[in-house]
Amino acid sequence: SVHFETEQGLFDSLFDEPETVRAVDDVSLDITENDVVALVGESGCGKTTLGKTVIGVQRPTEGSVTYHGQDVWDAKDDTGDVDIEYGEIRRALQIIHQDPGASLNPNKKVLTSLEAPLKRWEPDMSTEDRQARIYALLGRVGMTPPQDYANRFPHQLSGGEQQRVALVRALLMNPDVILADEAVSALDVSLRVETMDLLLELQEQFDTSFVFISHTLSNARYLAEKSGGRIGIMYLGEIVEIGPPEEVLGNPQHPYTKVLRWATADLDPSAQEIADPPVRSIDIPDPVDPPSGCRFHTRCPEAREACTRTAPALGDDGSTGRAVACHRSDEDHEYWESEPLEGV
Ligand code: SF4
Repeated sequence: SVHFETEQGLFDSLFDEPETVRAVDDVSLDITENDVVALVGESGCGKTTLGKTVIGVQRPTEGSVTYHGQDVWDAKDDTGDVDIEYGEIRRALQIIHQDPGASLNPNKKVLTSLEAPLKRWEPDMSTEDRQARIYALLGRVGMTPPQDYANRFPHQLSGGEQQRVALVRALLMNPDVILADEAVSALDVSLRVETMDLLLELQEQFDTSFVFISHTLSNARYLAEKSGGRIGIMYLGEIVEIGPPEEVLGNPQHPYTKVLRWATADLDPSAQEIADPPVRSIDIPDPVDPPSGCRFHTRCPEAREACTRTAPALGDDGSTGRAVACHRSDEDHEYWESEPLEGV
């Protein structure tokens, strides 16, 4: 779990206590070797916070993050048994941001920006070897001739080229996991598919796992389907459904997954039969004060009294690899005996 205290203005702080935003709540996620997990959900659902927690740049307020069995934050604080140094963990878990232009130093040439992390993590590497590695990777992502691109400043690159430089910077570290946080959202539609295909090629070539974050179901679906990975649906800080995309999107079990699928029905002819938005309310609850029980009950068209009392656990269906957090998936639950909520 990751909970934040809201920032208070000076005036407010005289009267009000800071409030707690429950950005991520009680989420458990395993990333294995050569894995692809695409997390999707509305803005503010906690997917970026979860991604940053997974790669060890956001400290959880409860629970732990482990890398090959090593607690990441014990390594960072140098407490407990530390078998893997924090520096090694930082090298292995990389991130690509939505806006690569903002994360590249505008005053430095591409080569200088790419050399910096290698100098830090591989100080014994010769200049020739370092540059050969950079040129090879620039060529691999289609930036040829690489020496030409390496000598440019970020403003001399297009958005797609900047994103490729960010990808090269992550790959230079030979990472185990790359978090791609809305990495294609800022690109033109035509470039999006091209960039996602490149991510998938590199994932296979370098045996790197990807955690791909998107607010767009079609992007997440494309990556999860083409890689044979998983898609995870997030709502108000929780994963409500996760599994193979053909299960999760082909036959959604969670009412919120049905909402997301409805919202992209124009891209999915098989969803055309869903005519009305499958929600009771379009208002997204405040993560400072999430609804009791199941957090989706204020919007869920299938909500019953029992849903307001207890939160459903993410339960594996045991055969297809899909897990769902909804009382409806448990045929013995009191849900089935309780009354539909008013307005349903
Ligand atoms: Fe809807 Fe109840 Fe399932 Fe929550 S637990 S998604 S409110 S049916």
